[in-house]
Amino acid sequence: MALIPQKMMDPIVRASLLLRRGVRRMLGMVLTLALGVYVATGGATAPVGVLTVAALSLYTLLLVKRFGEKLSRTGQTAARTDVELGLLLAVGLFAALLRFDGGLSGTFSPAVYALVALVASFARPGAGIVVVLFVVFYEVALRLLLVKETELRPILTHAAFVLTFAVLNLLLLRAEIARIRIRATARLEDELKRLKDDARRYRLTGGSDAKEREEDRLARSSVEEIHESVHYALELLRRTLELHTAVLLWQNDAGTHFRISELSSSSEDIVDAPISVGDGVLAVVMSSKTPVALEKLRPSYKVPYYQGPCPISSFLAIPVLEGESVRGVLAIDRTSGKPFTAHEQELVAQAARYCHRAIQNERVFLQLERAKVEQSKLYRAARSLGAALGEKDVLDAGVRAAREIASFDLALVTAYDEDKKMHEVAAATSADGEIDQYVGLRFQNNTGLVSMVVKNKFPLPYKGEFDGAHQIVLTRRLPWPKLGSLLVLPLLLHDKPIGTLVLGARRRHAFGDSVRATLDVLASHLAVSLSNARMVQKLEQMATTDGLTGLLNKRAMLDAAEQKVQAAARFGRKLSVLIADIDFFKKVNDTHGHDIGDVVIRGLGDVLRAKKRNTDIVARFGGEEFVLVCEQTDEVGAMMLAERIREELERKVFVTPQGPLSVTCSIGVATFPEAGGDWEQLFKAADEALYASKRGGRNKCTLHQSRKSDVRLLVEKAESKPAKAGR
Ligand code: GH3
Ligand code: MG
Ligand code: MG
Repeated sequence: MALIPQKMMDPIVRASLLLRRGVRRMLGMVLTLALGVYVATGGATAPVGVLTVAALSLYTLLLVKRFGEKLSRTGQTAARTDVELGLLLAVGLFAALLRFDGGLSGTFSPAVYALVALVASFARPGAGIVVVLFVVFYEVALRLLLVKETELRPILTHAAFVLTFAVLNLLLLRAEIARIRIRATARLEDELKRLKDDARRYRLTGGSDAKEREEDRLARSSVEEIHESVHYALELLRRTLELHTAVLLWQNDAGTHFRISELSSSSEDIVDAPISVGDGVLAVVMSSKTPVALEKLRPSYKVPYYQGPCPISSFLAIPVLEGESVRGVLAIDRTSGKPFTAHEQELVAQAARYCHRAIQNERVFLQLERAKVEQSKLYRAARSLGAALGEKDVLDAGVRAAREIASFDLALVTAYDEDKKMHEVAAATSADGEIDQYVGLRFQNNTGLVSMVVKNKFPLPYKGEFDGAHQIVLTRRLPWPKLGSLLVLPLLLHDKPIGTLVLGARRRHAFGDSVRATLDVLASHLAVSLSNARMVQKLEQMATTDGLTGLLNKRAMLDAAEQKVQAAARFGRKLSVLIADIDFFKKVNDTHGHDIGDVVIRGLGDVLRAKKRNTDIVARFGGEEFVLVCEQTDEVGAMMLAERIREELERKVFVTPQGPLSVTCSIGVATFPEAGGDWEQLFKAADEALYASKRGGRNKCTLHQSRKSDVRLLVEKAESKPAKAGR
C-alpha cells in the first residue's frame, strides 16, 4: 500500500469531506429534478409498474423528509430546503394533473395558482422566486414536450398570469409581515418605556445617563419584584376584606400626578391614566396625610380610577408616607355597602406600610448593588493608576477610569503651581479635538471655574450643569466648546489642591449625583498618583542632573558617553570630546567667596548650554570642570566649537560687590577614533590636551595630537592673551 505523506493527508481528507458534504447536500435536489424529468418524459401517465411505484415511493420519501425539516425548525429554514420542497410540490402537482385530470387544462388546473400562492407565503423570498420560475418554465416545457400543444400564445399568456399572480402575492404578503413587525416593535418599546417610568417613579434609577443602562436592567428586575409583592398584598386584601378593588397609586417624580402602580380588582371599568394630586378625595389625603373613609357613595360620585358611574358604595384611602411627604395612596373600595370598620382600617394601614417597605427594600437592594459596581470600578481605577509610573501614564489611566464611571466628550487635567499661582493644562482630550491643543498652556488665577475649584477645593458647577454663556472654564481667551454638562473636580493631596480634573459632555444632566460622588473619589486617587509620578520624576532628575547648573552629572554623562562612543564605532562615525576648566578658579573663590564662585561656574554652564547642539551632551564633571561629547563631529568642528565657547566665556562679565569680574577657561579636545578607541582613552587624551592648554598659558583650546611621529600638541587659533582671572 502506498503511504500518503502526513502533509498531504490533511488536504485530501478535507477535500473528501467537502465532497461528501456537497453530495449529501445536493442529493435531494438531484433526485427531485430526476423525478421532474421522469414526469416530463411521460412517467405520470405510464401504466403502473415497478418504475412508477419506485418513483412514487421516492417522491413520498423526499416530501416527508423536507416537510419534517420545515416543521422541526423554529426559525427560518435554509433556502435550499424551501426550494426543494417547492420543486417537489410542483412536480407532484403536475404529475397528479397529468394522471388524474387528463392534462394541464382540466378542471383542477387552477391548483397551480394555489401552489404559487403557498410558495410565495411560506418560502423565503429568494427560494419563492426560484420555485415560481421553475413552475412557469416546467409547465411550458410539459405543455410543449409532453402534451404536445402547438400554439405558443395561450401557453405564454398562462405563464404570464401565473408569474403576475406570484409576484402580487409575494409583495402583498411581505408588506403585511413588515407592517406587523413594525407594530410589534413599537409595542415592545412602549412597554419598556413604561417600565422605565415606573422605575423612576419609585426613585430606583437616577437620570438618563448612558452608563446607567446596566443599572436599568437591574432596576427592571427590581420593579418586577416590587410589583409582585405589592400585587400579592393587594390581592390578599381584596379577598379577605371582600373588596371590589384594591389599588396602589404612586406619585410621579414631579409630584404632580398619581398613576396606578399595582391593582387587584374585579371591575372592568378601571382607567389607567394620570390622576392629578389635586383630584377630589386624593387632595384631601394629600393635605391631611391621614386616612379618608367614605360611605354610602352614589353612582354620581367620581372615584378617580373608575370610568363611568361610580360602582362602589364604600371607599377608604390610606396615605403612604415617606418621611413627612405623601408618596402614594393605598385605596380600597366595596360594592356591598358595608362601611370599613376600625379594625379593617388598621389592617389596610398595615398593608400600606408593607407596600412602602417593599419599595424601600428594593431601593436599598439597588443601592447596594450600585455601590458594589462603583466599588469595583474604583478598585480597577486605583489599580491601573497605581501601575502607571510616568505622569502621562497616570493621566491616561485617570481619564480611562473616569470613562468607566461616566460618559463624556472631553476630559482635561490642569496642574496648579501654588508658588507661582499658575495653572497649566497637563492633558486634554476631546471627541472632536477642539481642546487637544491646549496642553502646555498656562494661565493665572482668574474667575474661571478651574481657578474657583482650586480656590474653594469644591467641585463646580453646581450639579454639573454648565452655562456656557456665563461661565468661563479656563480663561476668557481660550474658547470652550458648547456643552450641556461640565464637571470640574479638585485634585486634592492632603487637602491641598494640586490641580483639577475637568469633564464635559454635550448632553445635559450627564453628571448625576451618584456619578459625581464616584468621580470625586477617583479624583483623589488621581491626585495621589499624579503627585507620586512627579516625585519619581524629580528623583530621577536629581539622580542624573547637577544641582548647580542643571546639566547632567558625572554619572549620567559616563553612562551616555560610553554608549555614544560605541555607536560611533559601530557606524564608523567621528565623535569629539571637549573638557573645559576655568583658569585660576581658586583665586575667584579666594577673592570673591564661594557664592560668586558658584555664579561663575553656572555662567560657564550657561555658555555650554547655549553653544552646544541638540545632539551634544554636556555635563559638569566636578568643581569647575565640564565635559562635552559631540557626535558626528571631527577635529575641525570640535576645535571651532571649543573656540566659540572660550571666546564667549571670555566676553562674559559677572557683577560682584567688588566690581565686574571676567574669567577665562582652557579647553582640551580629542576626537574618536584618532585620539582613542574607547571612552577612557578618549577622555584621557582630552585631559592631556587640556593640560597642554594650561601649560601653554591658559585661555586656550588644544587638540590632542595622536600621531606618534608628531607628538607635539597643536595649539590652534588660540591667541596668547594674558589670563584675566581675578582682575
Ligand atoms: P587652573 O587654572 O590650573 O585650573 O587653576 P584653578 O585655580 O582653577 O585650579 P583647579 O581647577 O584645580 O581648582 C578647582 C577649585 O574649584 C578648587 C575648589 O576650591 C573649587 N571648587 C570646586 N567645586 C566648587 C564649587 O562647587 N563651588 C565653588 N565656588 N568652588 C568650587
Ligand atoms: Mg581650574
Ligand atoms: Mg579644575
